[in-house]
Amino acid sequence: STPVAMLCGLSKAANLGLLFKGEEYLEALAKIKIMGFDKTGTITRGEFVVTDFKSLLDNVSLNTLLYWVSSIESKSSHPVATALIDFARAHFIEPNPDKVEKFESFPGEGIFGKVEGNEIYVGNWKISSRAGCTAVPMLQGGSREGESVGYIYLGPFPAGIFSLSDVCRTGSKEALNELKSMGIKTVMLTGDSYRAAKYAQDQLGGVLDVIHAELLPEDKGRIIKELQKDGPTAMIGDGVNDAPALATANIGIAMGVSGSALATEVGHVVLMSNDISRIPQAAHISREVLRKVI
Ligand code: ADP
Ligand code: MG
Repeated sequence: STPVAMLCGLSKAANLGLLFKGEEYLEALAKIKIMGFDKTGTITRGEFVVTDFKSLLDNVSLNTLLYWVSSIESKSSHPVATALIDFARAHFIEPNPDKVEKFESFPGEGIFGKVEGNEIYVGNWKISSRAGCTAVPMLQGGSREGESVGYIYLGPFPAGIFSLSDVCRTGSKEALNELKSMGIKTVMLTGDSYRAAKYAQDQLGGVLDVIHAELLPEDKGRIIKELQKDGPTAMIGDGVNDAPALATANIGIAMGVSGSALATEVGHVVLMSNDISRIPQAAHISREVLRKVI
C-alpha cells in the first residue's frame, strides 16, 4: 500500500475507535483468516447480575457470607466481582476492602481472600481444588439456562453457591455474521462453562464456527497458536486472562473501555468502544488499504 493510503486507513480506523499501535497491524488485519473471541466482556456485556445467592452453612448467615465475599471481591475488577458487590449493596451490605488481610486472584478460576480470620475462595468449579475440596455443591432447583454458577468455600468446606446471568452485546451477532461473510472463521475462547458458552452461541444464532470453554489463560494462548497453523489469527479480548492469547495472536485487539489495563497494554490494537461491529468495519478498511483503493 502507499503511505497515503496507509495514513488514510489508520485515520478512518481511528474514527471508528480502533487505535493501531503500528501501521503493520492494519496490513496484518487485511490478511486475518481466523478470529478468536473471548466471551465475557467481549461478546457479552460482561455485566453479570446475581440471580441467586445461598449460604450452605447453618452457622453463617447469608448476610455475613455476603459481607465476607463482597469485601474480598472489592479487590478484584472481574465482572463477577462487580456483580457480587452490587448484590451486596442491594442487600444494604457495604463491602470493606480494609478488612481483607490476604488476597490472591486465579485468572479463569476465581479468587482467594482472608477476611476477619476466615479464608475464603470464590469462583467457578475449578476453585474447589484450590480450596482443597473435592465436592462441588449443586444449586437447588438447578441453574437457569445460560446462567453461570459460582461457588464459595470457607477453607475446604463448601460455604455458598450463587448464579449469574449475562447477555450478549447488541451488535455481536451482526459483527460475527459480517466477519463470516468476509470469509473469516470465528472461534469462541472462554473461561466460563460449556453451558454458558453454548447459551451465548444460541443467542448468536449459531454463527461461531467453534467454541472452546472452561479455558485457563494459558489454554487460550495455546489454542491461538494451534489456530495459527491454518492462517493468520486475531484475538479479541478484555481480561487479564486474555493477555497470553492477545500477545500470541498475529493481532491482539483489546477492549479499551471496559477491559483490563493488562489487555490494553498487551494488545496491538485497542478498541475504544464496546462495539465489536467496528472490527469487521476496520477489516474492510484494511483490505481497501492493501488494495490501494483509498
Ligand atoms: P471469560 O474467558 O469468558 O472472559 P474469565 O476467564 O474471565 O471468563 O472467567 C471465567 C470464570 O472464572 C468466570 O465465569 C467465573 O466463574 C470465574 N471467576 C473469575 N474471576 C472471578 C472472581 N473475581 N470472582 C468469582 N469468580 C471469578
Ligand atoms: Mg473476558
